[in-house]
Amino acid sequence: MAENIRLEVVTPQKSVVSEDVQIVVAPGTMGEFGVLVGHTPFLTTLKLGTVRYKDAGGTERYIFVSGGFAEALPDKVTILAESAERRTDIDAERARTALERAQQRLAEKRDDIDFVRARAALERAMHRLSVAETRKTM
Ligand code: ATP
Repeated sequence: MAENIRLEVVTPQKSVVSEDVQIVVAPGTMGEFGVLVGHTPFLTTLKLGTVRYKDAGGTERYIFVSGGFAEALPDKVTILAESAERRTDIDAERARTALERAQQRLAEKRDDIDFVRARAALERAMHRLSVAETRKTM
């Protein structure tokens, strides 16, 4: 069996994942990419999306990431994200509230609303909900 690779997912607040895994698939801004042990080193930015990995026991796991950076080395993948949560740690109720708040802000069309910020909050909330509620979210 192939060797495992170390996966570290870190936010400014905490370490979200630190474990040996079989494969990591992440949402690069240039497209989704997969990393196995022995991968050629590279650095990329990430878009908002889902990091998937197969843990050492072969179970598929899902992490919401709000975008950030990934560094792949032959024996390690490090993901630095502004925010990240394991699927099982996502508070769906909180995401629904954030979604409604963002939708209201966008619907009001007031001049003092930061449209880009509201749109980004909306996308985070929608994706959190899709990760929390779907096992096979990409
Ligand atoms: P909210 O308006 O609910 O704070 P947000 O999208 O603005 O949502 P972020 O700025 O992405 O939140 O994240 C702030 C912190 O809260 C991060 O540590 C993030 O992991 C956590 N967080 C945000 N939403 C959720 C959620 N629905 N479930 C679990 N943790 C969350």
